[in-house]
Amino acid sequence: MKRIAAFAIVAASIVTASAQSIYYQDATNVDMARHTMHREVLRREFVLPEVNGYKVFKADLHSHTVYSDGNVTPEYRVREAWVDGLDVLAVTEHVEYRPMEGKMYSYMKGYLPAEMQSLNMSSVVKDMGIQADLNLSNELATRAAAGYGITIIPGIEITRTPETIGHYNALFVEDANNIYDNDPAESIRKARNQGALIMHNHPGWRRKNLQMTEFEQKVYGEGLIDGVEIMNGSEFYPSVVNRASENKLFMAANTDIHSTTAMDYNNQGYQRNMTFILAKDASLESLKDALKKRRTLAYSFGTIAGDEELVKDFFLACVQFDTFRVDAKGKRSVRMTNNTSLDFVLNFGGNPVQLRAFTSRNVSVAKDKELTFTVENMWVPTEQKHPVMKVKIKK
Ligand SMILES: [Zn+2]
Ligand SMILES: [Zn+2]
Repeated sequence: MKRIAAFAIVAASIVTASAQSIYYQDATNVDMARHTMHREVLRREFVLPEVNGYKVFKADLHSHTVYSDGNVTPEYRVREAWVDGLDVLAVTEHVEYRPMEGKMYSYMKGYLPAEMQSLNMSSVVKDMGIQADLNLSNELATRAAAGYGITIIPGIEITRTPETIGHYNALFVEDANNIYDNDPAESIRKARNQGALIMHNHPGWRRKNLQMTEFEQKVYGEGLIDGVEIMNGSEFYPSVVNRASENKLFMAANTDIHSTTAMDYNNQGYQRNMTFILAKDASLESLKDALKKRRTLAYSFGTIAGDEELVKDFFLACVQFDTFRVDAKGKRSVRMTNNTSLDFVLNFGGNPVQLRAFTSRNVSVAKDKELTFTVENMWVPTEQKHPVMKVKIKK
């Protein structure tokens, strides 16, 4: 009798479970039920400290969707950014290159007026001038982002011949439809007239060297450029760290993602590129103010670049120094604790050593001496390239 009752309970639970899920679940087995929790998609947190009273917001200032030549929708981009632990995202479609539009028109051709049916696509583009609403992807991203607590910076990428002119992101645009001009410098000016900030993208892409072209000299000289990518995808331009400093530009590291960050970064064990923005809050106003005042750091594949003072302040906010012993000769034993998701490579004048995320290491410092070392995965615009830290040790 007892057996029959137990069987009835099991049978009932199987019926209920199969209605909820394609997987077998046993409601009486707590561990089995917990299995379903694995289907939840969670945000990966990337932990950074507050620096000089500012929060550090993790941003990607360069990405694409199907509204230009990307592979995913603006809504997917936003969800991906949330999963990757970002706070801020700019969706920056190419103004001049939007191949998906042509494909969509091809698909819709059956619905086009009879007189257009015979036209081939290239002549449709030429004669009709396919022109979508360039604000749409920013609007869709902004709408989606509201549900995730992510800030969307409305943007667009001015996209001209890479060898001579280059690509420029206009960030904080008011109307993306009112930026195109046949003259690329005029296009940049039109964006700035809307209050946009201009970031020079991937300055070394398809170039033999980083010598500035005539066009670049002109727009830099006119003061039309506000920021520059030190890193774009897997490209890193160390000499541009100096250029950014000399021209007073904010430094950025962005993905320029077209496919997915899962494919390009996460599946290979990497964190996506990020521009760290030191701001009061994540409002558009505060973020814009931070970029104008150049409170940014570029982060890509473990390397961090920025102005010397900011890089040093940032490092000292990440790592804590605690003296735990003083010997008879006054030599201090110090624990260095890295309370962030970043890894650091330190050099105390010998072989480089690691101070990985959420780890600590002990070092000894002679009496009345400062703890001196270089941080080799940080880049600053100085002769020696890496910041030289001199840390005063208490006691
Ligand atoms: Zn580009
Ligand atoms: Zn791009």
